[in-house]
Amino acid sequence: MTGVAGVLIAMGVLSVIAAWLLSRTTGVRSDVTVIATDAGYLSPETLKDPALRIRGRPDYLVRDRSTGTVYPIELKPTRDAAELHESDALQLAAYMLLTEKRYGAAFAGYGVVRYRSAEFRVPLTAELRRRCVAAAEAIRAARRATAIHRSHEVRAKCWACGVRSVCDESLA
Ligand code: SF4
Repeated sequence: MTGVAGVLIAMGVLSVIAAWLLSRTTGVRSDVTVIATDAGYLSPETLKDPALRIRGRPDYLVRDRSTGTVYPIELKPTRDAAELHESDALQLAAYMLLTEKRYGAAFAGYGVVRYRSAEFRVPLTAELRRRCVAAAEAIRAARRATAIHRSHEVRAKCWACGVRSVCDESLA
């Protein structure tokens, strides 16, 4: 076995383990291959869209094994609600726009937010796309108008922040 083949097999095994852990710890479906994650056992992938001026790293970026399509998953394990919060919908929308930019036609057209006991499969509709782009622009405009800058060095704060995907001073 060549060194390259060994590395590829090791990466495949790691991604199956990541999918199993994802399923065990979050309840999110196990029939996916994890492409990237911020959870530590695979490399994270920072997605960028210079035209929209957004960037971010979803908790998980996965590929559906049956369709080959790619979508982001965002976990909010401490949130217990029956309805999806608007800030979470906008954050996921930013990750969906970024996934679409990076993976093109392979983007699944939806993303997933998982709360403590509820899972939301959210399609990237034209309306959600518009709201997300408008929110990102509003945040940037507010920052320009008031010159408010990050007032802390706490990565965890940014990690939990609902607008980190459109914040150009985020530490996470
Ligand atoms: S992501 Fe940006 S807005 Fe959110 S806490 Fe961090 S610096 Fe503040």
